[in-house]
Amino acid sequence: MRAVRPDGGPLSLWHDQGPDPRVRPSLDGSVEADVAIVGGGYTGLWTAYYLLGIEPTLRVVVVEAEFCGFGASGRNGGWVSPKFPGSRSKMAAEHGRQAVVAYQRAMFDAIEEIGSVIERERIECDHRRGGMLLFATGTAQVPRLRAYRDMLSEWGYDADDLTWLGKEKAGERASVAGAEAALYTPRCASIHPWRLTVGLAEAVERRGGVIYEQSPARVVGSGLVITDSGAVRASRVLRCTEAFTARLPGQERTLAPVYSLMVATEPLSEALWNEVGLEAGETFSDERHLIIYGQRTADGRLAFGGRGAPYHFGSSVRPSWDVDNRGHARVRDVLWELFPQLGDTKVTHRWGGAVAVPRDWRMSVDFDPVTGSGHAGGYVGQGVTSSNLAGRVLADLALGRSTDVTRLPFVGHRWRRWEPEPIRWLGINLGRALAPLADTIEGRTGRPSRIVGGLLSRLTGT
Ligand SMILES: Cc1cc2nc3c(=O)[nH]c(=O)nc-3n(C[C@H](O)[C@H](O)[C@H](O)COP(=O)(O)OP(=O)(O)OC[C@H]3O[C@@H](n4cnc5c(N)ncnc54)[C@H](O)[C@@H]3O)c2cc1C
Repeated sequence: MRAVRPDGGPLSLWHDQGPDPRVRPSLDGSVEADVAIVGGGYTGLWTAYYLLGIEPTLRVVVVEAEFCGFGASGRNGGWVSPKFPGSRSKMAAEHGRQAVVAYQRAMFDAIEEIGSVIERERIECDHRRGGMLLFATGTAQVPRLRAYRDMLSEWGYDADDLTWLGKEKAGERASVAGAEAALYTPRCASIHPWRLTVGLAEAVERRGGVIYEQSPARVVGSGLVITDSGAVRASRVLRCTEAFTARLPGQERTLAPVYSLMVATEPLSEALWNEVGLEAGETFSDERHLIIYGQRTADGRLAFGGRGAPYHFGSSVRPSWDVDNRGHARVRDVLWELFPQLGDTKVTHRWGGAVAVPRDWRMSVDFDPVTGSGHAGGYVGQGVTSSNLAGRVLADLALGRSTDVTRLPFVGHRWRRWEPEPIRWLGINLGRALAPLADTIEGRTGRPSRIVGGLLSRLTGT
């Protein structure tokens, strides 16, 4: 089976590079299990992987609407990043400073853990420990990057984890137009996202997990998952549906799906890479308000993405939203703005996917031992590393284990629901419009845009 959009284009660069998705059977009839997991992205697969690692005889069933890696897990920017969403100071006010530092350290551990599993399970997914470069492009971004460095130092990064690079040193790492400085951390890796899901699903099956695909769950209830063609009865039911959650009855206002769009260039020549840099395979971004992210792929392309696509009324997620001509043109323009050396290099792929945003921008892993229901998610587009951590936590909670990770501040976190429409649509799209506006103002004045930037921070609760 080929992973294509309704318009015939590949689902993403990564899916296009293969392998093609394996066709697994759909759920057919009634099945008994100890744990039923809904969603075959990283969260569901990591949870299944760890459950079976702890209790190999457990009957674990994964129910996936399309195929494993169809969602954000197969399409993302491939940053195995130490970042996590939400305001640290708000978390610290509730859980104490040390809990937030522990969260950051657990993210560092998760980066290492992902690398270890990739090695142990022999998953070929172009895993590289290249670190991350955050640039300040333009003078207005310099104080923000400094403040970001100071914030990280305060909340769990050691001196070795952060290196400030002045203009010249930053330019030696990558030739980014207008870069005044950069912050480097070795605490980031990169992957081929789709191949990680393929390898993880196979690792789950090697451990004895059973995966049903093409089986959208219509009801995810206590002890029961119902699809069109069957049902799973299980004492524990775990929802790992991230940006698709709003489709489930009763979950319409839990997580808002917000689109992130990506482009990939054709492979660059050796000469062009000599000009661009990123020799160690560092992931890169800058301090603009609009979130952007890029990686040098193993086959020598630039894969680059950004937020800023419209939020669709009613939290709708549809294949037709994956390509957005205006949004993709903007993402392409930002990449060329950063690397004008690209000249007439071709963009070969455009794709997108939805990330899940909780009302307070904080991830959550929760499990109720009375009903046997649990969930993990709300990563706000920072789920590659977070989903590994969340999967370990959810596995522990579902097995009644109290461990270091089950004491982290996102455990048991309850989300406030999003506002009903049309307020939700207005609020999210206002935030979306403010980010590029703040960037334009900063580009023109060369100074931080305090009013628009401040309003944006208030809207996003960060
Ligand atoms: C374009 C893009 C770029 C990104 N870049 C990065 C990045 O570089 N680094 C980073 O950390 N994060 C990134 N993210 C976010 C990251 O990919 C996600 O946070 C992460 O993959 C979420 O994993 P998940 O398993 O929770 O969700 P998903 O991967 O979306 O998996 C959910 C699965 O559940 C299935 N499903 C949904 N509803 C049902 C149902 N009713 N029944 C059965 N199955 C169902 C879906 O088909 C899907 O396969 C990016 C996201 C996007 C879209």
